[in-house]
Amino acid sequence: MQRANSKFGLMTTAIHAGETPDPTTGASAPPLHMSSTFVTDQVAGFSAHNLEDDGNFLYARWGNPTVQMLEQKMAALEGVEDCICLASGMAAATAIFLTFLSAGDHAVISDVSYAGVAELARDTLPRFGINISLVDMSDLAAVAAALRPNTKLVHTESPVNPIGRLTDLAAVSKLAHDAGALVSCDATFASPLGQKSAALGIDLIMHSVTKYVGGHGDAVGGAVAGRKALISQIRGESAIHHGGVMSPFNAWLVARGLSLLPMRMRAHQSGAQAISEWLEAQPQVTRVIYPGLTSHPQYDLAQNQMSNTSGMVSFQVGDATIGRKIAQQMIDRLEIVHYAVSLGHHRSLIFWMETQGLMDSSFRLSGTQLESYRSYAGDGVFRMSVGLEDPEDLIRDLSGALS
Ligand SMILES: *Cc1c(COP(=O)(O)O)cnc(C)c1O
Repeated sequence: MQRANSKFGLMTTAIHAGETPDPTTGASAPPLHMSSTFVTDQVAGFSAHNLEDDGNFLYARWGNPTVQMLEQKMAALEGVEDCICLASGMAAATAIFLTFLSAGDHAVISDVSYAGVAELARDTLPRFGINISLVDMSDLAAVAAALRPNTKLVHTESPVNPIGRLTDLAAVSKLAHDAGALVSCDATFASPLGQKSAALGIDLIMHSVTKYVGGHGDAVGGAVAGRKALISQIRGESAIHHGGVMSPFNAWLVARGLSLLPMRMRAHQSGAQAISEWLEAQPQVTRVIYPGLTSHPQYDLAQNQMSNTSGMVSFQVGDATIGRKIAQQMIDRLEIVHYAVSLGHHRSLIFWMETQGLMDSSFRLSGTQLESYRSYAGDGVFRMSVGLEDPEDLIRDLSGALS
């Protein structure tokens, strides 16, 4: 089973896409091909310009069968033609920016994003002569106003790290396409099951597969999914020339995790719903942001756009002094939840993200953009990635650290 096929459900697709029993051994489970080069019976060129769709394997920077298995699973789940897996989520973001933007081009980029992507956009792209506008993607008038004749890419992230604000993906895609730009979305928080990004118009769907897709906190990787012509362009530039390819071992681990993604996402969602409702009832907690709560400022958009509201909950406990104190209590007292960055794993993780620190280091916002951020985050948020432990145990653990 190679490609997305509407005949199959999500679990069947996650388990079987990209896999075939080994023709020589009959092995039912997918093999791990730790091979950097491949014996060929063709006298062919060795250049990115000789890259042929569905050609034979040649060298692992072009493609590797185990990595390709994961790429086919991702493409099938996203309902698109193709996918490329790279060394990390940051390699995937870099691939999108450096493949589709050149000196003199303009890009509209979400004013809030994963911090690494924020710094890449602000610090690196201008060095290469790429102009950027940072825009609150929940403000459609601001997106429209930022578009220019030389805008080549609109990059958003939904839900956005670390505040859980959403982008209306269909509306932003339409604005971008009417202006002749490609639109990319970092869908890491949503996972491939959280929203039908391609059907909503997204051309380039990006994931840090380190998070929900792998789901076990053991392998770092990234992916970009989309139309074959766009993914081939990324393969030529970012894999073959920039070289940030995924190791076959990581692909094998991530594919094993991905096989159970539909089951895991259902459990992440129900655990996060229970925990966010419990948090809303706690006197120490001043604000909870979760797309599954009716109190989320974009609850209606979440209902329309998201098929799974995922496991990322953000909450406030008061000003920065109180936040820092509770963070220390968490470090000292939590028994189950790990006080650590990252997300999407079966283990629950929590981390305090102070607004002023993030503004200074990464986002550097002012005016209405800072106001919008603070309306979600106040002086800072605890970003909790609700794992797959029993919700009652997580609630008991949090309760002991909050009081
Ligand atoms: C983690 C993350 C990234 C970066 O991914 P790495 O695999 O750590 O390089 C990018 N975007 C989002 C939303 C993330 O959570």
